[in-house]
Amino acid sequence: IDFGYKQVDKNEKVNFVADVFHSVAAKYDVMNDLMSFGIHRLWKRYTIDCSGVKPGHRVLDLAGGTGDLAAKFSRIVGKQGQVILADINHSMLTVGKEKLINKGIVGNLHYVQANAEALPFPDNHFDLITIAFGLRNVTDKSKALASMYRVLKPGGRLLVLEFSKPTSETLSKVYDAYSFHVLPKMGEWVAQDGDSYQYLAESIRMHPPQEELEDMMKQVGFEQTSYTNMTGGIVALHRGFKF
Ligand code: SAM
Repeated sequence: IDFGYKQVDKNEKVNFVADVFHSVAAKYDVMNDLMSFGIHRLWKRYTIDCSGVKPGHRVLDLAGGTGDLAAKFSRIVGKQGQVILADINHSMLTVGKEKLINKGIVGNLHYVQANAEALPFPDNHFDLITIAFGLRNVTDKSKALASMYRVLKPGGRLLVLEFSKPTSETLSKVYDAYSFHVLPKMGEWVAQDGDSYQYLAESIRMHPPQEELEDMMKQVGFEQTSYTNMTGGIVALHRGFKF
């Protein structure tokens, strides 16, 4: 695997990503607002709008981290529904759980430490799976997508919210300059952790662009796939269904 600045093997990537999120967990929410100028909230709101989620649904918020999406889904699905916030990283789950409990979001929300590549849930279980800013950190993305397909109910929907490829050359240049020069510095100043934010910038550049990710989704069985670019393609929301 080429991280741009460092060649690592698969196991190393798993450990490296674990260290990154362990290290950023406590400051994750504040950094998210700072780095995206709060725009991540709009990207997430659009994701909820596209989710088709209804009271009584079973939702998996995968790589759910500090639980922004899970919290919203918990309110929508109500008492008859169920939301699982799953994440590979114990530190992120702990920060998320504390935050949501403090906000009084309890009852239908469960926390599971799990790897997206091998989901510990039954076949055909969820009405909706979301993975927001998580897939690019997963080592074997096709394996993870296949695992999501397996646990989704027929008729169920997958939404992948992720950084993608800016559609204009100019925006791409500005964005590269921002993510490679400004982000690591912000990480250094605010979270005393420039290296983790350097990784985040690298992982964004390595992630498959819009069409390639859509093809990967099709290859594992997703149908009626499509995507919407947001903020000039800096972020894209991919959709796919299991029938
Ligand atoms: N979804 C949240 C959000 O949008 O704010 C958190 C996104 S955070 C950038 C990425 C999350 O992916 C981290 O919490 C990390 O622990 C998790 N993650 C990384 N690799 C994973 C894997 N293989 N399986 C499950 N979660 C993973």
